[in-house]
Amino acid sequence: MMNIKGRILQLQHYSVNDGDGIRTIVFFAGCPLHCRWCANPEGLQARNRIMYIASRCIGCGRCTAVCPLQIGCDLNAPGERDKCIGCGACVKACLEHARKNTVTDWTVQQVLDWLEKNLLFFRESGGGVTYSGGECTQQPEFLAALVRAVYDMGLNQAIETSGYFPLEKLQPTLDLLDLLFIDIKHMDRDKHRQFTGVDNGLILQNIAALGEQGKNIIIRVPAIMGVNGDEENIRNTARFVRQHLPNPKMELLPYHSYGADKYTQLGLPYEEDALRRPTEEELARLRQVIEAEGVETVSFR
Ligand code: SF4
Ligand code: SF4
Repeated sequence: MMNIKGRILQLQHYSVNDGDGIRTIVFFAGCPLHCRWCANPEGLQARNRIMYIASRCIGCGRCTAVCPLQIGCDLNAPGERDKCIGCGACVKACLEHARKNTVTDWTVQQVLDWLEKNLLFFRESGGGVTYSGGECTQQPEFLAALVRAVYDMGLNQAIETSGYFPLEKLQPTLDLLDLLFIDIKHMDRDKHRQFTGVDNGLILQNIAALGEQGKNIIIRVPAIMGVNGDEENIRNTARFVRQHLPNPKMELLPYHSYGADKYTQLGLPYEEDALRRPTEEELARLRQVIEAEGVETVSFR
């Protein structure tokens, strides 16, 4: 169990945004959704890709010299990235830190060793561990082994998920968690598919089933004007939450475009187009809409 390996983007320490107290966030690689506004495009795939930071590159050629495919210094030049197998040799060779792996393998034991170093912070602050991504439920065996091991350490555990997973398979793991953050990105089935690439049917079905089990759930909505930030959608979301959760709570996460540089570094197109962050007034109004439906609004930001 302790040797099971997971594909991890990063472990982020001292976070206060994803659950109570001071927390370590374990970001899993790979996601079944492709949200148009994703701020972590490096997490969309479970395989390792290389981020190329052109502003740091001095053209020394050390990367090309070690590359089994002799890919040139500019990884984002036409045709170069398509050949890359993500072996990571160039990352080790680059002295300027102009290349970065998106994914590394961690065993359960290695994650536990990191968590051990933060036990004092967790205990003093009432914090713990939050599993995020990407989409952490995409690696069910590794997640199950890690959650069981952290449970045995007696730490508080939360998950941040799209809700797009086979519930039957995940149920024993979810039963060991203290808090579930689940996203509802849109209530309209067609728009959900248009903006994320998948239908919302499974997500809503899972939320309803977990609500019936009395799980401690907070519904998160990435509030994006031009996508889902209209009053009608937020009202419909709040109604669904009130109908299915015994203790209905929602958190609005206003859209930001901090991930734009990562798209450039991965050689991906960045489609900001019609997306807009809601103003403070618009957010306040949306919170009123939620509360008028009998749903509590919370904020971990
Ligand atoms: S090794 Fe680094 S600095 Fe040198 S050419 Fe390659 S990416 Fe640029
Ligand atoms: S990850 Fe490997 S294949 Fe890709 S550019 Fe670097 S050395 Fe070449």
